[in-house]
Amino acid sequence: MKFLANLKCNHTRASFAEYAKILDANLSANDDVSVFAPFTAFDAKEHKFKLGAQNFYPCVSGAFTGEIGKAQLDEFGVSSVLIGHSERREILGESERLLRAKFDFAAKNGWQIIYCVGENLSVNEVGGTKEFLRTQLGNIDTGYANLIVAYEPIWAIGTGKSASAEQIAEILGFLRTLTAVPLLYGGSVNAANIAEIARIRECGGVLVGTASWDATNFLNLIASSRERI
Ligand code: PEP
Repeated sequence: MKFLANLKCNHTRASFAEYAKILDANLSANDDVSVFAPFTAFDAKEHKFKLGAQNFYPCVSGAFTGEIGKAQLDEFGVSSVLIGHSERREILGESERLLRAKFDFAAKNGWQIIYCVGENLSVNEVGGTKEFLRTQLGNIDTGYANLIVAYEPIWAIGTGKSASAEQIAEILGFLRTLTAVPLLYGGSVNAANIAEIARIRECGGVLVGTASWDATNFLNLIASSRERI
């Protein structure tokens, strides 16, 4: 099972070094863990987890003020990227066109892409989730070999209110009809609900925000995924 930590705009270079030290001391070779750290915390060290980028601009380098391109990611050996996170879609205004350009650039370079999709509460409440997700995935090549799709309902992100296991199972089952790539769930995953989520047939892992920001909490979540319920 994959465990992806999205640290968002949290951790400094110094606090991330401590965070990484705790993960490195406690993860085993069998754990499949990636950490999407803030750029300023990137290091080129060997870790027991894979370091990923929360964002990038589809360029090698160039006149793109404030952006990070391939040249900068290469320096840290980073080739795993998040695309389509709802905070970038909603707060930063990333359009389907930009997401497609990012996807195509990442795919051309063979990067691992974690492509995030998910509906807001009003779409969910009128029963429009599946059509909404079908449209979002229609923007990319779902046959790309190094793709992972993360289902992250916006109403569950950072709210402490995860989708139920039944809802997740239904949506991941639907996504499975659209693509053969690994499917993740994200949205208020924590140590208390991970065991139930881990048992969902099509769930290949989780994308974790809040519960990953503290290294010990994140390790507890990973350990709890193995509990019998
Ligand atoms: C996220 O932002 O991808 C996320 C899943 O956040 P949280 O775990 O805090 O809901």
